[in-house]
Amino acid sequence: MSIREARVNAKINAISHTPITFEQPEERNSKGEKTGRKLKVSEYFGECVFDIASAAEIPENIREELISVKQGHRKFNNDHAAVIAKAVTDWATSRGATHFTHWFQPLTGGTAEKHDAFLEIKKGKPIEELSASKLLQGEPDASSFPNGGSRSTFEARGYTTWDISSPMFLIESTNGKTLCIPTAFVSYRGEALDIKTPLLRSISRISEVVTDFLQIIGNKNSKHVVVTAGCEQEYFLVDRTFFFSRPDLVMTGRTVFGSLSAKNQQLEDHYFGSIDERTMAFMQEVDLCLHRLGVSSKTRHNEVAPGQFELAPIFVDANVAADQNQLIMSVLKKVATKHNFEVILHEKPFAGINGSGKHVNWSISDNTGLNLLEPGTEPHQNHRFLAVVSIICEAVKRHGGALRMAIASASNDHRLGANEAPPSIISVYLGDTLEKIYQSILDGKPFTPDNNSVMDMGARQLADLLKDNTDRNRTSPFAFTGNKFEFRAVGSKTAVGLPMTVLNAAVSEVFAEANAFLKADIESGKSVDESLAALTKKYATSSKSVVFNGDGYSEEWIKEAERRGLPNHRTTPDALKVLLDEKQTKFLTSQKILSSSELNTRFVVLEERYEKMREIEFKTLISMVHQNILPAAMTYKNTLGLIAAQNKSLGLESEVEVELLKRLNELTKWIYSETQKLSDALDKLESQDHRSQIIASELLPMAESVAIWCNKLEEVVPNDLWSLPKYYDMLFLR
Ligand code: ADP
Ligand code: MG
Repeated sequence: MSIREARVNAKINAISHTPITFEQPEERNSKGEKTGRKLKVSEYFGECVFDIASAAEIPENIREELISVKQGHRKFNNDHAAVIAKAVTDWATSRGATHFTHWFQPLTGGTAEKHDAFLEIKKGKPIEELSASKLLQGEPDASSFPNGGSRSTFEARGYTTWDISSPMFLIESTNGKTLCIPTAFVSYRGEALDIKTPLLRSISRISEVVTDFLQIIGNKNSKHVVVTAGCEQEYFLVDRTFFFSRPDLVMTGRTVFGSLSAKNQQLEDHYFGSIDERTMAFMQEVDLCLHRLGVSSKTRHNEVAPGQFELAPIFVDANVAADQNQLIMSVLKKVATKHNFEVILHEKPFAGINGSGKHVNWSISDNTGLNLLEPGTEPHQNHRFLAVVSIICEAVKRHGGALRMAIASASNDHRLGANEAPPSIISVYLGDTLEKIYQSILDGKPFTPDNNSVMDMGARQLADLLKDNTDRNRTSPFAFTGNKFEFRAVGSKTAVGLPMTVLNAAVSEVFAEANAFLKADIESGKSVDESLAALTKKYATSSKSVVFNGDGYSEEWIKEAERRGLPNHRTTPDALKVLLDEKQTKFLTSQKILSSSELNTRFVVLEERYEKMREIEFKTLISMVHQNILPAAMTYKNTLGLIAAQNKSLGLESEVEVELLKRLNELTKWIYSETQKLSDALDKLESQDHRSQIIASELLPMAESVAIWCNKLEEVVPNDLWSLPKYYDMLFLR
């Protein structure tokens, strides 16, 4: 097949893919026959989840114990594991599951699983069984998981241990089902080799200090605190035909070069636009799968860039949210394939148009349902609310560098600061109203709202007022949005566990100090409100420099942030250095969230990942230059040369052809020489120290220069001769 035919075929293929239907859940009668009535979501929601709270086989006392364990009040009594193992085995095997797996989040950022059959041979007879010990603990051959050199070969064992607080669920594949048991993954010495373990530690810590805080200020019914999180997931959809014709998308998740189509997102007509049929069919099936898995997918819409979409679930406990976000990403991928799409989760798959993020909505609430970031109905509660906000601002002020570290990756570097995403500088956006309240506190003046009619309605409306005022600033990496903070700088591909761990730990540190402050103040005779007001003033003053309500994309902000002394780690290698700086990580070690050796492990793993990712990108680019790009230019040159020769034989001029040939010569010369430079630098890299730094500061700019020349060439070479799908194809044809 010629190049021309191949690309035309790909296009025909893509546009002739039709919306894919799927079987809607239907009611069944007592004989198991379908009645024709389609089930409501609430009727099948969570049907693939083993719910300890409602499983009939679990005795009441164990059920109560589990709930208490989940809330962090006590440790699980392993003697009870057998009952649960038996109940979950019956539940799963009666639904067709043949295998179970400990499902965990290694430091790769994805998930890992190793399947074991329920099948056992007991006294010569086959039975289905999951023993208590296999529920509680697994021992995957862990030596191949990234461990940052933290384990020597003789102790290369890793253990997975059951996480009681995240529900077990069934994953369905074409020919069977597997029970997934969410687990933590730790080394022989108990070091966290995963994302979940430190997250759980940070949740316990924050729960402890915030419960103390609530007790101190007189909320005697607050016995337990949870972190809540709702992660909005952005993604691109590309027809599979195109995806597999772009080696860069397959290898690296992004296009390493590509010329923008004339129309991209200038007209802003994709955002919230009506969803095309094929995509809608895909989204509907995604929702069905997620709902059956107990993930409450709630919103779906077109995002700003063409081909870009978003899904958001209803918030849940942070630990479960972190697991569910992994499930969301894997369901998106799996369902997309069925619909002849490929989901692209990379933060910046296409240069020049918006990238994808994962806005992590985050808040803290207690067992009485009180959301600490809800501005509240009563004025005295506002004191608490303002104090909590000031504590969070202080936490972000102190640990902006660590928060930036927690979202660092090769892919997110392309997005942060790329003029449409939050910058690498971590600041807090409070919105007009809250900022004014803060200013009045700093000035020691009473706060007078601009719009009395709104404020006169009482503080309940403050939430709404704030909501309206807050969501306008899309440029902030960390924004207050009505009754929660939204950590927007998190990348679309990133596992949310680490960013939340760091955030929880930063906030816990300040809460612990605030508790001491309040206790002393109250003991000295001040009222709770007076103490809270004093605390708010203290932190509002010290965190003033991190609050920024202006345009986070502007050049002025970068300068202003520098004046304010806020860190601006533009690249991953810069950001990761924080992990090795004892001063900046003390809040993690002292609160026992991550030990210094666990921090070191993360540094080694994350830096290595950065290097490997970039090397793959560079090699892919170099190969595409030689396999696709230069050959296209040569073919075109050949054609032009033939025409020029023909013209000559006919006595005609060849001005245009010669012009074009000159242009092509110039472009191919640049592409070739820049690629050669990159290639030489890559060869040299192996023997150098500080590789990640060299990659970020020298090799990446070289690769970007190659990309610029390739884009110029792409614009000159005729469509027919261009073998690779273009942005136009990938973003618009479906
Ligand atoms: P927007 O795009 O305006 O930010 P979305 O509805 O897409 O709004 O996303 C908001 C997210 O915030 C949802 O996942 C929602 O469940 C979550 N959320 C709402 N309240 C809280 C809360 N108290 N704690 C954590 N997340 C929350
Ligand atoms: Mg949002």
